[in-house]
Amino acid sequence: MSERYRFVADAMLGDVAKWLRILGASTFYEPYAGDEELIEVAKRSGAVLLTRDRGLCSRAAAEGVEVMYVGGMRLEEALAALSERYGVRLEIDLSDTRCPLCNGRLRRAERGEVEGRVPPGVLERYGLFLVCESCGHVYWPGTHLRRMRSFLRRVRALAARGSR
Ligand SMILES: [Zn+2]
Repeated sequence: MSERYRFVADAMLGDVAKWLRILGASTFYEPYAGDEELIEVAKRSGAVLLTRDRGLCSRAAAEGVEVMYVGGMRLEEALAALSERYGVRLEIDLSDTRCPLCNGRLRRAERGEVEGRVPPGVLERYGLFLVCESCGHVYWPGTHLRRMRSFLRRVRALAARGSR
């Protein structure tokens, strides 16, 4: 499997990785991957390595990997900085989003396909479902999506302040 990643996140950055995937950016995140592997994957993909580890930061840089040190940044700050530096889109686009669990692509699915895989109430209430092409997890645009969008509004405000 040779997925081309845009970002590689270290073990401490599970929240950042999850968000990058939701925002459509292909992101490698394996909590048990060692430094060696992270650097290798970043090299192979030409990806940006994100880390909170200064040692890994300088090792990767020495090997010619583009690194961004996100130590001391809150999640919002890290995402705002990623948008400024690498043009990460701070909006959820349901036609271009990835599985937060496994980085697989999500595709639209009809009610009939997800029947039995989501609670009956959900099946009735929603017409749009997204299914992960890799792990099969089913998503639907519920209250969670509204919360995520309002979180992103805060991140955009932060990004706007930062670039002034
Ligand atoms: Zn998945």
